[in-house]
Amino acid sequence: MKSFLNEVNEKMHGVPIQRCYHCRKCTAGCPLAQVMEYNPNRIIKMIQMGQKDEVLSSSTIWLCASCETCITRCPNQVDIAHMMDTLRQMAIEQGYAAKEKNILKFHKSFLHNIWINGRINEPMMMVEYKLLSGDLFSDMVMGVDMFLKGKLHLISPRPKDMATVRKIFKQTK
Ligand code: SF4
Ligand code: SF4
Repeated sequence: MKSFLNEVNEKMHGVPIQRCYHCRKCTAGCPLAQVMEYNPNRIIKMIQMGQKDEVLSSSTIWLCASCETCITRCPNQVDIAHMMDTLRQMAIEQGYAAKEKNILKFHKSFLHNIWINGRINEPMMMVEYKLLSGDLFSDMVMGVDMFLKGKLHLISPRPKDMATVRKIFKQTK
């Protein structure tokens, strides 16, 4: 039977994650490590130890913001952002429930917004997320503040090549 480590490496098609020597530079730079259930290099350790259930049901994989700070700091080019993405896909395919409340609805709104606009339009995405989650009023004051300070734009320009955006969605389902 294939080990969890091999399963993840095969899906990533990148630098094998066993190159990690646990220097923790990724975790030291990760803006979300403090709120993660397990920090990024601990997730790698758990994969190496075959702790599939714990990894795929952890909230960490859903909290990673794919900012790529970790790979820019990693001396071994281990692509943790891509690894987290791979783990999220595996969790969905293999029926692991997402531990973070409403996180799948957030991802759905995010992707649907890119499908429609070719890029994120924050107000439109937040409206869709609020309707999907039923969480209508939290963050409303902050949203109004951001709008008044010009941080949220009602209209965002579409990329010229929308056909390519749609093609990427079709090819990646
Ligand atoms: S920075 Fe790279 S080598 Fe160091 S712990 Fe993170 S993934 Fe491993
Ligand atoms: S990509 Fe994810 S794990 Fe890496 S630094 Fe950003 S939030 Fe942390």
